[in-house]
Amino acid sequence: MPDATFAPGYPVARARFLAAAKGAGAAIETIPHPGRGPDNGALATDLAWIGPKDAPAILLMVSATHGVEGHCGSGAQSAWLERNEAALLPTGVAVLMVHAINPHGFAWTRRVNEDNVDLNRNWIDFTAPLPDNTGYDALADVIVPSIWDETQKQRYKAAVAAYIKSHGEAGLMKAISGGQYHHPGGIFYGGTAPVWSRETLSAIFRERLGHAAHVSIIDFHTGLGPSGYGEPIISAPHGSAIANRARARHGLTATPIGGPESASAELSGDWMGAAPALLPDAEVTGIALEFGTVPTNMVIDALRADAWLHGHGDPLSPEGQAIKARMLAAFYTNTDHWRGMVEGQSLVAARQAVAGLKLALQQG
Ligand SMILES: [Zn+2]
Repeated sequence: MPDATFAPGYPVARARFLAAAKGAGAAIETIPHPGRGPDNGALATDLAWIGPKDAPAILLMVSATHGVEGHCGSGAQSAWLERNEAALLPTGVAVLMVHAINPHGFAWTRRVNEDNVDLNRNWIDFTAPLPDNTGYDALADVIVPSIWDETQKQRYKAAVAAYIKSHGEAGLMKAISGGQYHHPGGIFYGGTAPVWSRETLSAIFRERLGHAAHVSIIDFHTGLGPSGYGEPIISAPHGSAIANRARARHGLTATPIGGPESASAELSGDWMGAAPALLPDAEVTGIALEFGTVPTNMVIDALRADAWLHGHGDPLSPEGQAIKARMLAAFYTNTDHWRGMVEGQSLVAARQAVAGLKLALQQG
């Protein structure tokens, strides 16, 4: 069956999103990205605004924070537009779709951006000393070796087994995925300065959302948790006003990041955690909607291979294409069943957010 909503690549996904946005009567803006795709095609972050520009309540939906995860997020955005959900928006509620905030990663089938930076490790204060991650430091040269062969794979397996013995599974996940700032060729690297996508998203917040009293956010992700299940992840501590609002809006399965119930390890520098400070006059309620794909070790191995490929190999070679196929399979499950789960749960999350915004307006 043709893959109707969840397009096979960035250019097709983008064209579908733009057509769907036009069909929904959205005001469309394009922010060009300085890079190019593997086909030498143009890259951009596209915005679709539905409803009055000065609406006091806004639902923000963002795709491709983690590049390749945009296959899912773009599909969810286009599906929402194509269903004409826009016609059901209550008075005072507008929607802003940010399509492909990390278009380079999306086009190149990478989780990271053009600088090998994980956008959700980049939202830290770079005037302060960079965070340490001694666990990653200890494993860095086996996580992404300079040679990608069987010997190195065995070295990685042995090092990981030893690390689990001394620090546990959770300790290993925190070391690998918690974020690191000392190994620019590694995985979950946070960079040394704000990257293009951070600057772009900050400007979008400042220029388009600054007037709003209530902002609800859904940021689409994949690669963690049970296949097809969309976990609403909250980037605020248990019991905080933000977490309580997110749970009231999205249900008790919405759980704070790093907690015992969350698929995600504790991490530093995600943009959702920074959003309230960017909108000091608004009540901000956000979730990352994280859809499971394949087991975590397969996801991590795909990320390691991809980091090796861009640091030491040729992404356009046959070997590179095989690694890209692994990356796509790690972050996007190409079945009608999985897409249906994504589409259904995304629709529910968006309706929950809209209902929450409507209620917030009524309560003043
Ligand atoms: Zn993600």
